Amino acid sequence: MQKHQYEVVVVGAGGAGLTAALYASKTASTAVISKLYPTRSHTGAAQGGIGAALANTEEDHAEWHAFDTVKGSDYLGDQEAIDFMAEEAIDAVLELEHMGLPFSRNPDGTIAQRPFGGHTNNDTGKPVRRACYAADRTGHMILQTLYQQSIKNKVKFFDEFYVIDLLIVDGKTAGVIALELKTGEMHIFQSKTVIIATGGHGRVWEITSNAYSYTGDGVALTLRRGIPAEDMEFFQFHPTGIHKMGILITEGVRGEGGVMINGEGERFMERYAPTVKDLASRDVISRAMYLEIKDGRGIDGKNYLYMDVTPDVVNHYAEIDDRKNPDGSPYRVTADEILSKLPDIIDFCETYIGINPIADPMPVQPTAHYAMGGIPTNKYGEVVVDEKDTVLPGLYAAGEVACVSVHGANRLGTNALLDLIVFGKYSGLKAAEYSAREPFPDLPKDPAAFAMQQLDSIRNSNGNENMIEIADEMKKVMFEHVGVFRVEEGMQIAVDKVRQLKERFKEVRVDDKGLKFNNNLIEAWELSNLLDIAEVTAVSALARTESRGAHSRDDYKKRDDKKWLKHTLAWMENGGVRLGYKPVHITNYKPKDRSY
Ligand SMILES: Cc1cc2nc3c(=O)[nH]c(=O)nc-3n(C[C@H](O)[C@H](O)[C@H](O)COP(=O)(O)OP(=O)(O)OC[C@H]3O[C@@H](n4cnc5c(N)ncnc54)[C@H](O)[C@@H]3O)c2cc1C
Repeated sequence: MQKHQYEVVVVGAGGAGLTAALYASKTASTAVISKLYPTRSHTGAAQGGIGAALANTEEDHAEWHAFDTVKGSDYLGDQEAIDFMAEEAIDAVLELEHMGLPFSRNPDGTIAQRPFGGHTNNDTGKPVRRACYAADRTGHMILQTLYQQSIKNKVKFFDEFYVIDLLIVDGKTAGVIALELKTGEMHIFQSKTVIIATGGHGRVWEITSNAYSYTGDGVALTLRRGIPAEDMEFFQFHPTGIHKMGILITEGVRGEGGVMINGEGERFMERYAPTVKDLASRDVISRAMYLEIKDGRGIDGKNYLYMDVTPDVVNHYAEIDDRKNPDGSPYRVTADEILSKLPDIIDFCETYIGINPIADPMPVQPTAHYAMGGIPTNKYGEVVVDEKDTVLPGLYAAGEVACVSVHGANRLGTNALLDLIVFGKYSGLKAAEYSAREPFPDLPKDPAAFAMQQLDSIRNSNGNENMIEIADEMKKVMFEHVGVFRVEEGMQIAVDKVRQLKERFKEVRVDDKGLKFNNNLIEAWELSNLLDIAEVTAVSALARTESRGAHSRDDYKKRDDKKWLKHTLAWMENGGVRLGYKPVHITNYKPKDRSY
């Protein structure tokens, strides 16, 4: 077993992990461990943009950005952290620019910005241009830029190393255990601090925009070490995944003027969100789509709708909306402009479904997209482990795996990329600060014992259960019953089913008994993570008897601030889930009804 020693160990090489590593490595010895080659991280798939009130083409303010985020969160977001993020956003984007990120530009050379759902001018309620973008490849550009900077700054990378356990000694972080995928060898990383930046867990659901690697490893391994997961019932369904496949079509399409159309040719969002229409927040649009489909107004009565960005349709509705360019002239688009702003989307549609979005509408349905919940942290990325926000020394989390909570019950588009950069930075800085004042902790006697025991129980299982079947059954039951709309009976079915599947998983068959690149074993491990996350999600959702943000119940249709203006904490204990709650931090904005 090889042993390594670093002051800061970052788990994950996406936008959050790389930003954390960049900042930590300025003063502390830093290693990044990643199960994927860094530039394959899911951040590279982000399309639409990163939010910051730069006000490059129209009036905008960090306070407006903060309020939109609070409102988008359905008042479950922690307001102090949200204010912090909105204020830091401007410097964060400029810093990326100075690192060399090739943003799309305005004619005057400033960073171009486009409207995105839920981002508004707080005086008029109309959409505001706040999303900074690099065509529809914003995440790709962020990831490449951060990776180049990390290489330049000599961050040490352990690529294709899979972290399977977190070491805690006497209540302090002591390192991680990782499996080297190429050799199957275990590695012990002794460290003063660990920053978990492992991304999300959308693979719990059948239709998802998320990468295959989105298996919730960070949340699962902290749950197994007695750390709770926060607000897991809040998982965002993005309204526009390609029908049946879930591949994401960015909200940027609607930012450029695309509209949602039902089977009767009607722009139905006018009825649900009269002011912002197709730019309402994602939970609002996904629910509207569900209702349209339920009432038989899907395309040909089926379970999908159209998103239309063909120039004639965009121009028709731009005229009705009286939409203007920044210079006051009427907003109109040509096919070439659409092509230059959304090249990847057009390419995806042509490749996967043989449709050219400049000539024909795109068939779309809601797709599981983003985890608002995750490992509880404060605004410095420090992991907090109970109702009183007690910090676990040396442990940090940032990015989609973390719950700060700035997204509350529903995240606004462009705020995830922002979250990575802001909280990645602060977790890196704080971890380096902590490392400068603390000695290396001792390792436990047999550091890899817990990890080995779990791994061996999967590797040596002689059972006959097929992991693909277990995974499929979990994904289906979660999509059907813990999806866009929820009721008690359905969620109970999901809880029971996931528990049965966990039992069946104990008899899972792993055919490959080898060490080198044992993908079969890794897939089984990832499924065990997803099953834990599915259980925690379904149990947290069942308990919350209200509708808020992405958690929408047919049997409790209203938000209930008296009872439920609080964060859920879920611990995995004694083979089940224990729930607790902690208050929401409210500073400037008192909870109000959400209208668009
Ligand atoms: C299709 C798509 C489009 C999106 N578009 C936007 C957008 O336009 N704007 C926006 O704001 N947000 C967008 N989002 C959301 C946003 O991109 C993600 O939330 C964000 O990129 C997550 O970054 P991250 O650094 O937390 O994780 P990731 O970038 O996914 O990185 C996770 C890292 O963790 C590593 N890892 C995971 N598990 C382990 C393990 N066990 N051991 C070792 N390493 C591990 C992986 O190798 C990877 O390097 C989009 C998301 C998707 C899926």
